[in-house]
Amino acid sequence: MTQIPLICNNISIENDRLLFAGQDTAELANQYGTPVYLMDENRIRERCRTYLGAIKQAFGGKGKALYASKASSFKRIYEIMKEEGMGIDVVSSGEICTVLKAGYPLSNAYFHSNNKTDADIAYAMDNGIGYFVVDNTEELLAVQAMAAKKGIRQKILLRITPGIDPHTYAAVSTGKVDSKFGSAIETGMAEEITKLALLQENIILSGFHCHVGSQVFDSDVYLRAADVMLTFISDIKQKTGYVAEELDLGGGYGVRYVAEQPEIDIRENILGVGKFIIDKCAQLNISVPEIAFEPGRSIVADAGMTLYTVGSVKKIPGYKNYVSVDGGMTDNVRFAMYGSPYTLFPAKGLHRPFDMRCSVVGRCCESGDIIQNNVPMPQDIKRGDVIACLTTGAYHYSMASNYNRIPRPPIVMLKDGESYVAVRREKVEDLVNLDV
Ligand SMILES: *Cc1c(COP(=O)(O)O)cnc(C)c1O
Repeated sequence: MTQIPLICNNISIENDRLLFAGQDTAELANQYGTPVYLMDENRIRERCRTYLGAIKQAFGGKGKALYASKASSFKRIYEIMKEEGMGIDVVSSGEICTVLKAGYPLSNAYFHSNNKTDADIAYAMDNGIGYFVVDNTEELLAVQAMAAKKGIRQKILLRITPGIDPHTYAAVSTGKVDSKFGSAIETGMAEEITKLALLQENIILSGFHCHVGSQVFDSDVYLRAADVMLTFISDIKQKTGYVAEELDLGGGYGVRYVAEQPEIDIRENILGVGKFIIDKCAQLNISVPEIAFEPGRSIVADAGMTLYTVGSVKKIPGYKNYVSVDGGMTDNVRFAMYGSPYTLFPAKGLHRPFDMRCSVVGRCCESGDIIQNNVPMPQDIKRGDVIACLTTGAYHYSMASNYNRIPRPPIVMLKDGESYVAVRREKVEDLVNLDV
C-alpha cells in the first residue's frame, strides 16, 4: 500500500477510502457535487481555543486572538468566531458587511489594509468599528477628518514596519522598508506618524501593530519582531511620554501543506513569545502592553479540503501526464501565484500503488492553471474519479475568481458526523445577473 501522508489529525483512511473529519469524502462529493470546499468546524474551533488558551496563559489572563478573516470570509465563520470569543481583522467594506450580517459585534474588529477608501472609513465608523489599523500618515489624517466629521473619537493602532525578513530569519534593516505596508522605524517615519497621531483630537492611539509575513515556521521571527517593537515602544515613551497599551504582533504561523513541512506547536510558540516579552519589558522598564496575535491561515487552512472530479487524463509518452479536474485556478490560485505545494490523492481505492507522476491541472484556459506538479497518483486514475486536495481552508474561497465564467464552489461544513451548506454553490445565473 502506498504511504498516504496524513498531514493533519482530521484526515484518516478507512476501508481504502479517504475520510475528512470522520466523513467519507467520496460520499460527500456525491451528495454535494464537485468542486466543493469542505470545512471541518471542530478543527476551526479547536484552533481558536488553542490560540486563546495559550495567549491567556502567556500573558496572565490578558491578550487577544484576532482571526484575520481575509483567510476565509463568509457569514458562518464570523458566527463561529463570535461563539469562540475571537476578535477579528477585516480589510474591506465587503468583509465588514459580512461581519454585520453574521451578527458579530464590529466593536471587536480591527480594520486593516494599506489603502482604505473614504467610503470604507465612513462605513466602518458608521457601524462602530473597534479599531483602525492605520497604515500611513495620509490615512491617519483621513481617519481623523472623518472622525471629526462624525463627532467621534476613534481608536487606532499604527502599523509599524519592524524591518524583519521572515524568510531568511535575519533582521534585514532595509529589506522591509520598501514594503507597501506600514511606516518603517528605520526611516524615522514610525516615530513621525506616532507624534502626529498623538496630536489628533479625534484619534485615540491604543498602540502599535506589525505583521512580519506569512507561512512562518520559525518562532524566532516573532521574538525578533517583539524585540524591535518593544524597543520602539520604550523609545517613544522616553521621547514623548506616550505609553502604548496594545501591541499587536500580527499573524503568519505556518501550516502543513505537505508532509515535509513541520507541524507548529502554537501553544509552545506563544508561551515562548510571552516569556520573552515579559522579560524584555522588565529589562526596558515598561509595563507589558496587551498583546494580540492575528492568525488567519493557521485557524482555517487544515480545516479545509477541496474535492474535484477528474475529467480528461492525458498521458504524453516520454514527457508528462496530466490529470484535469473540474476546478482549478478559479478555486485555488495559490500554485499559480506562489508555487505553493499541495498534497492530493483519490477519495477511494487508496490501496493501489501510486505509480504515476502527473500534473493535476484545472479547466481554465491558461497554461499556468495548475494545482500541483509531480503528484503521485494511481496509473488507472480516470474520468469520474474524485480526488482531494488537502489544506485548502485558507486563501482559497477568499481568493476565488470567476475566470472563464466558472461559478465558485460551495462551502460545506462538517461537524460531529453531520454536514451542512454554509455558502451555496454559485450559479451561472448569479454571474449573468450582473450584466445589464
Ligand atoms: C494576512 C494578515 C494576517 C494573517 O496572516 P496569516 O498568515 O494568514 O496568519 C494577519 N495580520 C495581517 C495584518 C495580515 O495582513
